[in-house]
Amino acid sequence: TYIVKDECIRCKFMDCVEVCPVDCFYEGENMLVIHPDECIDCGVCEPECPVDAIVPDTEDDPDGKWLEINSKYAELW
Ligand code: SF4
Repeated sequence: TYIVKDECIRCKFMDCVEVCPVDCFYEGENMLVIHPDECIDCGVCEPECPVDAIVPDTEDDPDGKWLEINSKYAELW
Protein backbone atom coordinates (compact mmCIF):
# COMPACT_ATOMS: atom_id res chain seq x y z
CA THR A 1 0.00 0.00 0.00
CA TYR A 2 0.94 3.63 -0.34
CA ILE A 3 0.84 5.97 2.64
CA VAL A 4 0.60 9.73 3.15
CA LYS A 5 3.16 11.33 5.44
CA ASP A 6 3.47 14.58 7.37
CA GLU A 7 4.52 16.67 4.36
CA CYS A 8 0.79 16.59 3.51
CA ILE A 9 -0.18 18.63 6.56
CA ARG A 10 -1.75 21.91 5.44
CA CYS A 11 -1.17 21.11 1.77
CA LYS A 12 -4.24 22.28 -0.07
CA PHE A 13 -3.71 20.38 -3.28
CA MET A 14 -6.06 17.53 -4.04
CA ASP A 15 -4.39 16.27 -7.21
CA CYS A 16 -3.81 12.85 -5.66
CA VAL A 17 -7.48 12.40 -4.81
CA GLU A 18 -8.47 13.18 -8.37
CA VAL A 19 -6.23 10.56 -9.96
CA CYS A 20 -6.85 7.64 -7.59
CA PRO A 21 -8.80 4.98 -9.56
CA VAL A 22 -10.32 3.43 -6.42
CA ASP A 23 -11.06 6.61 -4.42
CA CYS A 24 -9.18 5.45 -1.35
CA PHE A 25 -8.11 8.86 -0.07
CA TYR A 26 -9.85 10.07 3.08
CA GLU A 27 -9.53 13.14 5.27
CA GLY A 28 -7.53 12.82 8.46
CA GLU A 29 -7.31 15.47 11.15
CA ASN A 30 -5.15 17.89 9.19
CA MET A 31 -3.98 15.84 6.21
CA LEU A 32 -5.19 13.26 3.74
CA VAL A 33 -4.72 9.55 4.35
CA ILE A 34 -4.87 6.42 2.18
CA HIS A 35 -6.96 3.40 3.22
CA PRO A 36 -4.41 0.57 3.20
CA ASP A 37 -6.96 -2.14 2.42
CA GLU A 38 -8.40 -0.22 -0.52
CA CYS A 39 -5.18 0.99 -2.15
CA ILE A 40 -4.29 -1.21 -5.12
CA ASP A 41 -0.67 -0.04 -5.23
CA CYS A 42 -0.97 1.46 -8.69
CA GLY A 43 1.40 4.33 -7.87
CA VAL A 44 -0.50 6.89 -9.95
CA CYS A 45 -0.84 9.34 -7.05
CA GLU A 46 2.83 9.45 -6.11
CA PRO A 47 4.06 11.80 -8.88
CA GLU A 48 0.95 14.00 -8.50
CA CYS A 49 1.83 15.02 -4.95
CA PRO A 50 3.49 18.48 -5.04
CA VAL A 51 5.12 17.96 -1.64
CA ASP A 52 6.24 14.33 -2.04
CA ALA A 53 4.13 13.18 0.89
CA ILE A 54 3.01 9.94 -0.77
CA VAL A 55 5.33 6.94 -0.60
CA PRO A 56 5.05 3.16 -0.65
CA ASP A 57 4.85 1.88 2.94
CA THR A 58 7.95 -0.19 2.27
CA GLU A 59 9.93 3.06 1.99
CA ASP A 60 10.46 5.73 4.58
CA ASP A 61 8.26 4.19 7.28
CA PRO A 62 10.50 1.72 9.09
CA ASP A 63 8.50 1.60 12.33
CA GLY A 64 5.09 1.62 10.63
CA LYS A 65 4.05 4.85 12.31
CA TRP A 66 2.56 6.46 9.21
CA LEU A 67 0.86 3.28 8.10
CA GLU A 68 -0.85 3.20 11.48
CA ILE A 69 -1.97 6.83 11.16
CA ASN A 70 -3.29 6.24 7.63
CA SER A 71 -5.25 3.16 8.79
CA LYS A 72 -6.63 4.88 11.83
CA TYR A 73 -8.11 7.87 10.03
CA ALA A 74 -9.21 6.03 6.88
CA GLU A 75 -11.18 3.53 8.93
CA LEU A 76 -13.14 6.26 10.70
CA TRP A 77 -15.05 6.77 7.46
FE1 SF4 B 1 -4.95 5.28 -5.09
FE2 SF4 B 1 -3.11 4.05 -6.63
FE3 SF4 B 1 -2.36 5.98 -4.93
FE4 SF4 B 1 -3.16 3.61 -3.99
S1 SF4 B 1 -1.33 3.99 -5.22
S2 SF4 B 1 -3.77 5.64 -3.20
S3 SF4 B 1 -4.78 3.07 -5.48
S4 SF4 B 1 -3.70 6.23 -6.73
